Amino acid sequence: MRTTLYANATVIDGEHDEARERWSVLVEGERIAAVGPVDSLPAPAGARVVDCTGRTVIPGLIDCHFHGAYQAVTCWEDYDLRRSIEHATLLAARNAQTLLEAGFTSARDVGTRGLIAIALRDMIDAGVILGPRLSPGGRIISSTGGLADGFGHWVENRASLGHVVDGVEAVVKAVREQVKYGATNIKLEASGTGISPYSDSRKQTMSTEELAAAVKEAHRNNVRVACHAQATEGIKNAARAGVDTIEHGSFLDEEGADLMLEHGTILVPTISVIWLYVNEGPNVGVPQWIVDKFAGDLAEHRQSVEMALDRGIPMAVGSDSGHSFNPQSIIAIELELMVEWGFTPMHAIKAGTSIAARAIGREAHVGRLAPGLFADLLVLDGNPLESMKVLRAPGGIRRVVKGGRLVAGAECPRVEEIELGFDVAPEGATGGVGVGEDGAPDRPCCLQTSDELGQ
Ligand SMILES: [Zn+2]
Repeated sequence: MRTTLYANATVIDGEHDEARERWSVLVEGERIAAVGPVDSLPAPAGARVVDCTGRTVIPGLIDCHFHGAYQAVTCWEDYDLRRSIEHATLLAARNAQTLLEAGFTSARDVGTRGLIAIALRDMIDAGVILGPRLSPGGRIISSTGGLADGFGHWVENRASLGHVVDGVEAVVKAVREQVKYGATNIKLEASGTGISPYSDSRKQTMSTEELAAAVKEAHRNNVRVACHAQATEGIKNAARAGVDTIEHGSFLDEEGADLMLEHGTILVPTISVIWLYVNEGPNVGVPQWIVDKFAGDLAEHRQSVEMALDRGIPMAVGSDSGHSFNPQSIIAIELELMVEWGFTPMHAIKAGTSIAARAIGREAHVGRLAPGLFADLLVLDGNPLESMKVLRAPGGIRRVVKGGRLVAGAECPRVEEIELGFDVAPEGATGGVGVGEDGAPDRPCCLQTSDELGQ
């Protein structure tokens, strides 16, 4: 069995509140064998030793809000219409690898086209492609006119991001279909969002009865439930229904916070997606009406995160990446923004490791540096407690180790750097975005508000 000693590091184990100086991590095969002071952990005979002097070792990060199939999205049509499902699948494979290279060794997919996320999980597990340990979901289960009901009735798309169903019976059937194909996570919605053509972030959508029926059926099958909820009433409906995580949580009030604490609901606040919509969206082709909607949410979103911090609601890192302004390569920005919005650096790291592992139901396997867990870890050229930017600095991540194997990082030999951007997406009928002569995105205009759709 291959044995590696990561020796003499600053160790942040994802669980304890203090960093340990001059500690080591011993890895045997794909698991962690021991963690302790450098003097108590000599290298076993035959072990490889990675000298981590001056470096920090932390658990591999976890993205609780990944969408492998998202690529350079600026508006709803980009999710579903601009490229074929085959193109989207191949791009998702690359996005999974990018996520791993960004230091995320586990992820939960919370909404995909068709069965892309399940195929990704299976191909990663089989070693066909590189990617994080993936907890896959299916399409987003949505009510008519809700979050993921993206098109008029004249558009038929049986593999679209949204699976539109109404009523308890239909919702239960939708959950069973996803369980049938291997989802380990169900994504529901209790409110719309800024990009939804027929809804918005302040409108509650699926009823408590529909949500509760989905949760019951999912849990009966040992499958967890993530629920998009921004609207105040939507957050409460989702918490009452017993969802495992609430995504975004933009307009949390005291009663909603009470309900989340009562039900043990974890919040995935996705700070960066909302912040970047507003601050970067206009530069990369997001239509102004969408930017305006998110801009109207941002201050209250921050107040909600601060309330959740105050009230001690557990929060986990989730990126909602894959839009034109937040490619998978930059998503450690979520931890930077957590610190900017009031988390201590140690709390942000726990939100991206041990708390995130709890959020996705994988805490027995990942999210901490402890004996018996998978050896998923990062070797960093610096200390994230001093600056979280080390996670995004060129060469900041020296090693990404997944299951004891070096899979990415500056010290991982690789064939070629590939950076995907909106300007290299395929053009034409399968579509995408090119760059015009002036350097601006050259693309068909995005759809319209729902008012215009009705004309
Ligand atoms: Zn999302």
